[in-house]
Amino acid sequence: MRKKIVAGNWKMNLLLDEAIALNEAIGSHINEKQYDCEVYQFVPSLYIFPLLHQTENITIGAQNGHPEKKGAFTGEVSMHQLKNLGVNSILIGHSERRQIFNESNAFLKEKVDSALSENLKVFFCCGESIEERENGNYANVVIEQLKQSLFHIPEEAMKNVVIAYEPIWAIGTGKTATPEQANEMHIIIRKAIASFYSEETANDIRILYGGSCNASNATSLFSQSDIDGGLIGGASLKADDFISIINAAK
Ligand code: PGA
Repeated sequence: MRKKIVAGNWKMNLLLDEAIALNEAIGSHINEKQYDCEVYQFVPSLYIFPLLHQTENITIGAQNGHPEKKGAFTGEVSMHQLKNLGVNSILIGHSERRQIFNESNAFLKEKVDSALSENLKVFFCCGESIEERENGNYANVVIEQLKQSLFHIPEEAMKNVVIAYEPIWAIGTGKTATPEQANEMHIIIRKAIASFYSEETANDIRILYGGSCNASNATSLFSQSDIDGGLIGGASLKADDFISIINAAK
């Protein structure tokens, strides 16, 4: 049985006092209840340190990290520095990094290698555009993203990987994939993992859905056979909404 994961992606939102209050509100709620899911928050890098040890039931992760250990990369933070700070998880391959910051499959591959070498848990994001969905090529696009940047790692390392399927047309648009559309893609991803690695690894890996997942659709998404939780953008910024999503992952 795969343990569900609910992960927030705050993106470039919230001021420090808001971030502390949000994390505190969610953390104290989790402390009061017994949950059998894992909760992560991927926060802006400058909030990692103040939030890292605020509440023990939320794992604070990084939204970005540079593959080089150190050097002349103004404005960047390395995976090595993140690890040294006490961070243990990172988002890689988010469509905003791919599209706005032109991160290529080859660069994402370097990031994956660097993160795993630092023993960071990689949340690897993949997903197709609206054109690719409409022309029916979406499965090939997503599998190609995985082949180019992830499937080179040894099977053992897949234990430190979570996959987030995030159709780009559903991110921040309010247009969620139907539970069936999402589950279909999760099954395709799992089959690809079974053929590249093994049935066992395919069965063990958590595959999250992301893209306008919210308090009202989380239950139907998370009840699908191959959806193991969610990567939540907008709805991770409000304590009540995020708590409802955690409740849906029970
Ligand atoms: P959204 O974002 O929930 O606001 O659609 C999801 C994401 O980008 O990870």
